[in-house]
This record gives sequence, C-alpha cells and structure tokens, in this order.
Amino acid sequence: MGYTKAEILGILKEEGVKFLRLQITDILGVVKNVEVPESQFEKALDGEIMFDGSSIEGFTRIEESDMLLKPDYNTFVLLPEGLENGGRGRAARLICDVTYPDGRPFEGDPRYVLKRQVERLQKLGFDNMYAGPEPEFFLFLRTPEGLPTVETHDRAGYFDLAPIDKGEEAKRDMVNALVAMGFEIEAAHHEVAPGQHEIDFKYADALTTADNIATFKWVVKRIALNHGLHATFLPKPIRGINGSGMHTHLSLFKDGQNAFYDPEAEYQLSRTALHFIAGLLEHAEGMVAITNPLVNSYKRLTPGYEAPTNIAWSASNRSAMIRIPARRGVGTRAELRMPDPSCNPYLALAVMAAAGLDGIERGLLPPPPVQRNIYHMSVRERRKHKIRELPGTLREALEALRKDPVIREALGEHVYSHFVQAKQMEWDDYRVTVHQWELDRYLATY
Ligand code: ADP
Ligand code: MG
Ligand code: MG
Ligand code: MG
Ligand code: MG
Repeated sequence: MGYTKAEILGILKEEGVKFLRLQITDILGVVKNVEVPESQFEKALDGEIMFDGSSIEGFTRIEESDMLLKPDYNTFVLLPEGLENGGRGRAARLICDVTYPDGRPFEGDPRYVLKRQVERLQKLGFDNMYAGPEPEFFLFLRTPEGLPTVETHDRAGYFDLAPIDKGEEAKRDMVNALVAMGFEIEAAHHEVAPGQHEIDFKYADALTTADNIATFKWVVKRIALNHGLHATFLPKPIRGINGSGMHTHLSLFKDGQNAFYDPEAEYQLSRTALHFIAGLLEHAEGMVAITNPLVNSYKRLTPGYEAPTNIAWSASNRSAMIRIPARRGVGTRAELRMPDPSCNPYLALAVMAAAGLDGIERGLLPPPPVQRNIYHMSVRERRKHKIRELPGTLREALEALRKDPVIREALGEHVYSHFVQAKQMEWDDYRVTVHQWELDRYLATY
C-alpha cells in the first residue's frame, strides 16, 4: 500500500508483468477493465490513458466522451494465478478515478460520489466511515455449452460427484486468490440455501471497502468460471429459498477511536451512533433503490427469509433492518441488513454515509429499539412502534428516491438522473413482459 509511481514501475518490471488492467465501475455497478500492454505502462501510471466514456452504460453524454483514467496507486495489485489471461503473461491491476481531459473529476464516476461523502464526514471531524460487508452468492452449474443455470451442484445428483464438493473447491480457490490480492478473509462458509455461500472480509474505510467489493465480485465470478461454475450475486435466483444479501456493518471513527461506543450510555451507544442510526432509518425508503437496485431485489425483501421488510432497529433481532451486534469497544457497529450484492458498492456506501450524516447534522434520534421478532407483530403493534415498511418493488423504491433530496444530493444530478432513467426503463420492460407465472395461473382458466 502507498506505492509511488517508481515503485510500481519497478514491480511491473521485476515481475515481468505484460498487461496492466485499469479498473472502473459504471453507474449500474458493472466493473469495466481497460487493459494496456507494457509499452503504455508509464502513460497509464501518469493518468494519460483516454477511454470513450460514451461506450459505458450510464457514464456520459456523447459530447463528453473523452475521459481520462487516473489510477489510485494504493489499489495496485499483481493478479494471482487463476485471474490472468490464460498464459498470455502476468497482469496487474489498478483502480482508477475518471476525470475530464482538463483533470476535473467526472460527476458520473461512482468512486467520486463516495469520495465526496468521505470528505463531508471528515469535515465534520470524523476520521472515516468504516464498512464491513457480508456478500452472499450462489454457485450454479453451467450447461455443457457454458450457459448459466439455477441448478446447484449440491442437488444435481446426476453430475459427476468428485470426492471434494465442486463448490467447496472453487470457494477455496476464491479465498486463496483474494488473500493473494491482500484481502483479510474473516470467514468463508456455506449459507442456508443449497449452493449458497458467504465470504466475509475485514472491514476498512468506505472507499477501500467499495473497491474491495467491486474486486471481490469480479474475482468470485472469474474463479467460478475456471471451475465450470457460474457465480451469481442475483439477490433471489430461486423462489422459496433464501436470497443473497450483503449485510453491511458500519461505524464512524474519530481520533482513532470508535465514535459509536460510549461505555456510560444506554446500550453503550454514543449520541453519534444514535443520530447515525436515526439517519439510516429516516432515509431507508430513499436509499433502497441504490442498495437494492434490481427488479429481482424486491423478491428477496419479503418476510420469512431473514431479509428485512420493516424499517426498524434492534439490539438483537435479525428481523429488523438495522441490528446492533453485541460487540462493543472498537467493534461497536450498526449492521444494515437490507443491501444486496447486486448494488453498486460505491453508490451504496455513499448513500449510507449521507443518510447517517444527515441524522448527525440534524441531531435526529431513533425510536426505541424493537427487541421482538417483527415478522410476528400485528399491523397495530407495528404502528405503535412507528415501524414503516420498506418499498415493495423497484418502482416504489424509485418513487421514494425521487422524494428524498438528501439521497439525491448525495448522488449528484448526473448519477441520479442516469440511474433513475436506466432503472425506470428496466421497470417498464418488466411491467410489459408476460411472465410464465401469469400463463401458468391464468391461461387455462380465462
Ligand atoms: P454476522 O454476525 O452478521 O454474521 P459477521 O461476523 O459475519 O457478522 O461480519 C462482521 C463484519 O463486520 C465483518 O466484515 C467485520 O470486519 C465487520 N466489522 C467488525 N468491526 C467493525 C467496525 N467497527 N466497523 C465496521 N465493520 C466492522
Ligand atoms: Mg457473516
Ligand atoms: Mg453471519
Ligand atoms: Mg449470511
Ligand atoms: Mg450479518
């Protein structure tokens, strides 16, 4: 970490690196790579590689198509075995900021959206927001032609049963690759549903964590492919069994101390923590289009599968949108449970920070925590506890985003308008599609 240009050039030479990957993420959360050969390394490190922004979803208007890739030297890694271009030589990776030719940051760059929130919280005197994600995913089989299925190796008895589970083998390779890239893996385990997995890595400052999530998804998909499997972060690939979430643990630090911890206070949570939690609750509806951005996301956010549907916080209960894990001291944190791994990690962490900071700036306080299982409460009890429901569809979520100036401002006009436009089209397309369910249910009867 903290390399200089000369050090990176030295490593590239020493390791015989042939390709440098310049990585960015578009507004919809898709990782894009621009790969340059040896002759361009110096130019790439100087941030002089141009790319056509108009070729990337949601990035820019045609008239501003020439963008520059400015590498963040802190993100330099050599790509380990399994992630290279099939024997065509070693490769390394740098994550980039996107700028106009004159060097101004590009407003459509999600990384810039997050950096603005980090700046904002530092102006309020915090060191940073720290975030630890728990991304879940499914490993599915591919057809002999290589197309993804929703069939899991755990269940598909007719496939070759190797002595070691195919999925476990793939997961071990994923962990090894991630560790080689500098990830500190805290846990890798099988999840509730067949074929479902979770790999947790150590929390870091918001920008590093967003970079890590983007890299993580790419690595997991790539290694799965090496094993003939398809890794998917689709939130609800199969009806009736648990979907994939990405619980996100959040804390603020000030002067090197966890600012959420106060040993004297009720629940041992500081005023700062309570304000931040209140901000997350206040803006839950407005941010859910960003943290849960697919039509499919809302099929996970249904009662009964450990995914929250209610806007509440709890010190223990996993049915609430925010849970406060029991750890105190340096590990004091809020766990936000609605996000799913299909989100753009930069935008998602940016809106979480914006929501929490709004709570701090306005001195908001949350209602008392709900300790009971909310799934089992009646409508009246929920009303008494002032528990609102999360939007039930992408359409409702977009409506709530439109009505939330704090979240809109955090995204900035460019990202907001491109995001909403793309998502509105996605919703409209879904709405006019005749689904198999409708045929199964109605065709014979009507
Ligand atoms: P769960 O109990 O919900 O399964 P895990 O133990 O799997 O939670 O994940 C905890 C996550 O919280 C990890 O990513 C961990 O690094 C992170 N974490 C720990 N302390 C903090 C903190 N102070 N701020 C933010 N994240 C933290
Ligand atoms: Mg976990
Ligand atoms: Mg867990
Ligand atoms: Mg889990
Ligand atoms: Mg969790």
